[in-house]
Amino acid sequence: ALTDKLSRLVKEIRGQARITESNVADMLREVRMALLEADVALPVVRDFIARVKEKALGQEVMGSLSPGQALVGIVNRELSRTMGEGVSDINLAAQPPAVILMAGLQGAGKTTTTAKLAKHLIEKRKKKVLTVSGDVYRPAAIEQLKTVTKQAGAEWFPSTPDQKPADIAAAALDYARKHYFDVLLVDTAGRLAIDEVLMNEIKGLHALLKPVETLFVVDAMQGQDAINTAKAFSDALPLTGIILTKTDGDSRGGAALSVRHVTGVPIKFAGTSEKIDGLEVFDAERHAGRVLGMGDILALVEQVTSGVDMAAAQKLAAKVKSGESFDLNDFLGQIQQMKQMGGLSSLMDKLPAQMAAKAGTMDMDKAERDIRRKEGIIYSMTPLERRKPELIKATRKRRIAAGAGVQVQEVNRMLNEFGQMQDMMKKMKGGGMMKMLKRMGGMK
Ligand code: GDP
Ligand code: MG
Repeated sequence: ALTDKLSRLVKEIRGQARITESNVADMLREVRMALLEADVALPVVRDFIARVKEKALGQEVMGSLSPGQALVGIVNRELSRTMGEGVSDINLAAQPPAVILMAGLQGAGKTTTTAKLAKHLIEKRKKKVLTVSGDVYRPAAIEQLKTVTKQAGAEWFPSTPDQKPADIAAAALDYARKHYFDVLLVDTAGRLAIDEVLMNEIKGLHALLKPVETLFVVDAMQGQDAINTAKAFSDALPLTGIILTKTDGDSRGGAALSVRHVTGVPIKFAGTSEKIDGLEVFDAERHAGRVLGMGDILALVEQVTSGVDMAAAQKLAAKVKSGESFDLNDFLGQIQQMKQMGGLSSLMDKLPAQMAAKAGTMDMDKAERDIRRKEGIIYSMTPLERRKPELIKATRKRRIAAGAGVQVQEVNRMLNEFGQMQDMMKKMKGGGMMKMLKRMGGMK
């Protein structure tokens, strides 16, 4: 929805040479909507928009970029800069054992993330890792940590619901010291909402453990409320980093921006699945595209330039270059390549605004039905007809239409379209296709 509006605006102000007060206002209104739709908290949105406006105004538009495109670029860069500043791996610069304290609401993903981090530190940093649970309120929570710790290949320090969290922490720390662990990960209890008891308890744990990292674990699906949660934890504890979980969900992840704004600490990792290996270093650029609703630009570029598609494109380019004619088999190949890339609508989600502008007014469901119908038409042709479409006259058209269950006009329409594509291919002097794909691949 945003993409449509934004791209329309991008289009409207194309051709103007610089970003001005008047053309920027409409664009920023859309950006504001996009951020709110992504559940970024209102004060954060205001602050962000003000910063972008300041940066954008009066900027000369470079080269072929229109002010609209340039502004989207500025917004995107500013977003990823805001979310990506100071990104770093887990800090372990402490007298071992380096203690990592996990904080956050219940259900945020602390226990899961504790194990994911353990695995990360074992595999990527070659550390000897111990985990312990201070969640004495739910017996199942301790067992849960035990299970996932085993999966991670780390060691688990036992605790029981009748113990005090502070005693558990002290015992685990002592054990970690005596057994030369590099890292002690301390999982804690969360509540459904912030309360005094919880905050005092984790403050006490912090004072006792003196962790080198105090990580705030937050659910990317959490909406406007993320800002309040983050504020409460940030006021109570000197946070050193954020882990954004459940980024595999379908929320636009605006919480990242709110949380980053309130705490001022870097988002270090993102949870990408329920599984033990579903943890990635946070990619601010990628996340910015998602928050803006401009889609996952990098993912698109990866898809377009991935081995399979590149190979097909290369083959096609070679064919064009060698003077072989572009036939209906190639046309079919192109259609199928589209489907391989996840269908039109999934592709559209990933298109950056400047590209989506062209397709902005298309009805995606209709377009996809259209592709399937074209495919059906080509499948109803004989191999000879596919190689030599010029053979397809009235009688053959009727037979093909009947085979595909469509009207003859549709066969005509498809053949026309194919004809245009064929012309284009003829005009492309060798490598044109590759150039186009490379340009897409290099696009930021
Ligand atoms: P805690 O209460 O903070 O300890 O949260 P848990 O670690 O128990 O996680 C709560 C639920 O969220 C569990 O069902 C997890 O499997 C799930 N979860 C945690 N992180 C992720 C993630 O990155 N992606 C997905 N899809 N689910 C997650
Ligand atoms: Mg837990």
